[in-house]
Amino acid sequence: MVTTAEVIIIGAGAAGLMAGVTAGEAGLPCLLVERRHRPGLKLLLCGNNRCNISHAGDARDMIAAYGEPVGTFLKTALTAFPPARLRRWFEAAGVPTCLNRDRIYPTSEKADDVLHCFTDRLRELSVPLLLNCPVSAVTRLPGGVYQVSCGAVVFTAPRVLLATGGVSYPKTGSVGDGQRFAGELGHTVLPLQAGLAGMDSAAGWLPRPAASASLPTTRLTITQRGAAVGTTEGNVLAEGNVLRGTAIFDASRMIARRGWTDFELELDVLPDMSLAAVAARLQQTAGRARGLSRLLTAQGLDLAVADSLAAWLEQRGGDASAWARLLKALPLPITGIRPVKEAIVTVGGVDLSEINPDTMESRRSPGLYFAGEVMDIDGPTGGYNLHAAFATARLAIQAMIGTVARVEQSAATAANRPPTKAGRRGRGKARDATPTSGRNAPGRSVPEEGRPTEVSSSERRRSLPRWKTPPPTGGDESWRQRQRGSKGK
Ligand SMILES: Cc1cc2nc3c(=O)[nH]c(=O)nc-3n(C[C@H](O)[C@H](O)[C@H](O)COP(=O)(O)OP(=O)(O)OC[C@H]3O[C@@H](n4cnc5c(N)ncnc54)[C@H](O)[C@@H]3O)c2cc1C
Repeated sequence: MVTTAEVIIIGAGAAGLMAGVTAGEAGLPCLLVERRHRPGLKLLLCGNNRCNISHAGDARDMIAAYGEPVGTFLKTALTAFPPARLRRWFEAAGVPTCLNRDRIYPTSEKADDVLHCFTDRLRELSVPLLLNCPVSAVTRLPGGVYQVSCGAVVFTAPRVLLATGGVSYPKTGSVGDGQRFAGELGHTVLPLQAGLAGMDSAAGWLPRPAASASLPTTRLTITQRGAAVGTTEGNVLAEGNVLRGTAIFDASRMIARRGWTDFELELDVLPDMSLAAVAARLQQTAGRARGLSRLLTAQGLDLAVADSLAAWLEQRGGDASAWARLLKALPLPITGIRPVKEAIVTVGGVDLSEINPDTMESRRSPGLYFAGEVMDIDGPTGGYNLHAAFATARLAIQAMIGTVARVEQSAATAANRPPTKAGRRGRGKARDATPTSGRNAPGRSVPEEGRPTEVSSSERRRSLPRWKTPPPTGGDESWRQRQRGSKGK
């Protein structure tokens, strides 16, 4: 069986779902193919099932937070779809959002609501979503059409969007297939490593026997040969010898991105107090029973870690200023980074230099597009990874809409001319030239919110008579009922 669509989107995670809805809203016939029995399994796990969809700030803040080379690569996508616009988009789709400190969540704090907003919208837009359908191969046929094989069933399309994710939490379906397809189509795939991962530690001050412990506010410094090379902030959660939490996760991403192997970690467990203030407080508690432990719990450390840390310091001996120096720079010996299958995000993937950042189209294989974590894209904790998946998916589809409109327009113009040899050549040329013509031209403006910059929307509709008119944004009754039933915050 062979089925043809304008675009086949492989993977119905955060990026693929956003791509499917964006295509559906623009009337671009597409097919969404998902490996697992349910779409968005990883989306459901996000933010402890609360789904931290983005981060406060504007595009420039976001770009800085991703760091290089990711930030620069995402510039067009983030400028077109910054956090404020993402919030408006979700609001219009029936998912109001809220700020929790600097993180953006659905107001209901339910990842389920985010997933259902996509699946409901896909249904309203009649975008087909095939589940339990692992794509096994993607090949480019002579003439540039792609063949997407799912076992014995084969789909063909002039465009394919790879939205297959990274390789963390493989049970959610992301197992590295997209990177394999990209490699087979001529792309370089950078090694896949754990980003935002836990670490194994042999720190003597952790609670023994192994227990759960929490340090809610810390500053973690990464050093190399005694010099600080990176700093992260946030909580640290110990589960036996395994450390997690934002300070640890963000440090692991830096270490993977920079390829550091000879690093050491120092933990400031009282980052809100100066060294002098800690020393002064320690002087005051000197000689009091459990004085040190009480000081630490008063600063937010939980009892288990406060007791074990106090016992460790007392065993070492020393005066108040020596202890203060240790509390501001506790050695955190690391024996290993947890494996990528346990990580929040994958560092590595399809090499960004081989993808056009203005369109998400492959520079190696015209008509092949990318969105989300399949690329060498990752961000710190705080909603950056979902935001990147959503923004790159929208950009890819918007770029395709420009392409489809131009190709269809030139085909329609050519169809009105007598079928001369030159005319036939012209048609072929227009299709072949598309990937590198106007879209990649310098100075191309950023496409926004479903509005391709190359062709006006009225021109687009005229040139695409067989596209469906998208229904108005809204939501079906089941969705509205769920929204009414969900608890606001
Ligand atoms: C526990 C956890 C919590 C997280 N929390 C947050 C958070 O709160 N905020 C945040 O910003 N980020 C968070 N992340 C990261 C975020 O979930 C990912 O960065 C994001 O989901 C990436 O989106 P994606 O669409 O690129 O990939 P995915 O969401 O992984 O989706 C890829 C999809 O492609 C499908 N697929 C793969 N191969 C094939 C194939 N051969 N054929 C068909 N389909 C295929 C997969 O089944 C999957 O559904 C979290 C991650 C984890 C693991």
